[in-house]
Amino acid sequence: MTKSISENITWHPGHVNRAERELLLGQKACCIWLTGLSACGKSTIAMALEQVLVKRGHAAYVLDGDNIRHGLNKNLGFSPEDRAENIRRISEVAKLFVDAGLIVITSFISPYRADRDQARSLFAPGEFIEVFVDAPIDVCAQRDPKGLYQKALRGEIKSFTGVSPDAPYEAPLSPELHLRTDVQDAASCVSTILHYLEERGYFLREAKSGT
Ligand code: ADP
Repeated sequence: MTKSISENITWHPGHVNRAERELLLGQKACCIWLTGLSACGKSTIAMALEQVLVKRGHAAYVLDGDNIRHGLNKNLGFSPEDRAENIRRISEVAKLFVDAGLIVITSFISPYRADRDQARSLFAPGEFIEVFVDAPIDVCAQRDPKGLYQKALRGEIKSFTGVSPDAPYEAPLSPELHLRTDVQDAASCVSTILHYLEERGYFLREAKSGT
């Protein structure tokens, strides 16, 4: 991890601890890190999961790839260095949100193992849940909701993950969850994640009635 270039900076601990925040929000905070090829289903699953969690009375928030590139990361491109910096900033933001007690869902291709492992290293055990959103590339290319595969295959997008030789996707080796979106629909993928959270005690109170 890059060291801070500033000197004379001191960490000021706050007076509210994590347990107090978790009690207030009725949940164990965590970062659900979705990774996978473009069009594998990350955003669809992230937005649906966020909606279900909020309906059930939880504080959840999605950090989405394209959205973050509109603002915080608008100065970054798709070179390996910029992709690494993209993930570094996002993981630091996710860490702040987790510290605030939220269930954070991140939706980024995050193609490099080293970058994802770097993100994981910021979190305590149990706080980082890596979810491999997996579909074969021909299925993703067929879905192509934003027409990006078409453009990449025509050579109009450089360094397109999984298509361009200089932009490989490194599949997770031992993710906490592996979803196959070519055989499981989005609702079922969301249920799998909810079940994982439920089983491991991330929800500290009953879901709101009617959900
Ligand atoms: P990504 O964020 O990974 O680029 P998107 O969520 O934007 O992908 O697009 C995925 C597309 O695949 C959407 O059109 C979605 O409706 C479709 N899809 C088909 N099956 C699934 C599934 N099981 N989970 C998520 N998306 C799916």
